[in-house]
Amino acid sequence: MNCYNHPEITAVGNCKACSKGVCSDCATDLGHGLACKGKHEQRVEDLEMIISKNVKAFADASKNQFLLPAFFFFMGLVFVGFALYQGEGFASFPVVMGFGFLLFGLIFLIRNRKIFS
Ligand SMILES: [Zn+2]
Ligand SMILES: [Zn+2]
Repeated sequence: MNCYNHPEITAVGNCKACSKGVCSDCATDLGHGLACKGKHEQRVEDLEMIISKNVKAFADASKNQFLLPAFFFFMGLVFVGFALYQGEGFASFPVVMGFGFLLFGLIFLIRNRKIFS
């Protein structure tokens, strides 16, 4: 592969932003990749920042995957438990609310397990 700007010179790599081949005169080495000199340095830095933030966000989301289902299960058990303790029937509003919470907790739990397993 040759440099996009200098077809007679062999490229040292590709710009991370536009993927064009760049020779040592046309490339800026940013440490984590090459960029077109004077053109794509900021773009490549932005891409690197987005990727590293996403890696961190995904790691945090993986750690927190049980938090939302746990909240729904807690709310569901509080509604159902309190209503039954108060002597309300299964068709009462708080019991239906509670089972709604339990259902959504289960759905979130299954969905999160699929994403992070
Ligand atoms: Zn470029
Ligand atoms: Zn060049």
